Amino acid sequence: MNPKALHKIGYGVYIVSSRKGERLNGQIANAVFQVTSDPPTVAISINKKNLTWEFIKESRVFAVSMLCEGTPMTFIGLFGFKSGRDINKFENITYRIGETSAPIVLDNAVAYLEARVTQEMDVGTHTLFVGQIVNADILTEESCMTYDYFHQIKGGKTPKTAATYIAEKPEVKPPPPLKSEVKGDMTKYQCKVCGYIYDPSQGDPASGITPGTPFSALPDGWTCPVCGAAKSDFEEVK
Ligand code: FE
Repeated sequence: MNPKALHKIGYGVYIVSSRKGERLNGQIANAVFQVTSDPPTVAISINKKNLTWEFIKESRVFAVSMLCEGTPMTFIGLFGFKSGRDINKFENITYRIGETSAPIVLDNAVAYLEARVTQEMDVGTHTLFVGQIVNADILTEESCMTYDYFHQIKGGKTPKTAATYIAEKPEVKPPPPLKSEVKGDMTKYQCKVCGYIYDPSQGDPASGITPGTPFSALPDGWTCPVCGAAKSDFEEVK
């Protein structure tokens, strides 16, 4: 089996959110799809280890915000690489409480829906929640971020808890260039928290770091654009 074939399935990048009592939480998900139109129904696949899973299990409601292409990686990092067990993800973002009482994330969202769970299926590591849509709307006409765009253009990574995670085999590296070919230090560094790779040839334009900036020249206050980890959480890619 070639698991890479599964990368050819198209997805989007969404925030699935829910609540438990007064607590709100949400997470990045890509496995969201419409299953019927009458009644309008969607299915989502959520990892049982995630706090959002616990919240949906109890409240039986969830909201989905479809993110735009321009969504900053730090925003995706907040919802995708941090746990609501450690922080309140809703503290500094714009959201509103929907008809179902689920929180609807509005920042960077082109559209949203909210649903009530009608069925669920245990699929091992994940639960497939099927929900009847009770409310949905378009917020802007911006383009939606596809999962492909997230990986190819934004350099995004997939956490192990994602429904579509596939373990990557280590790459076979070409031999290092001769000293005379090295222009500046182009060594790549990887975030130990989320797997993001800082590539000096790309820089980090979203944080004002121009292409060609070696890792060692990054300011001390620079943080991982995906998960917000400190510079000290990076290690050299060998
Ligand atoms: Fe990171």
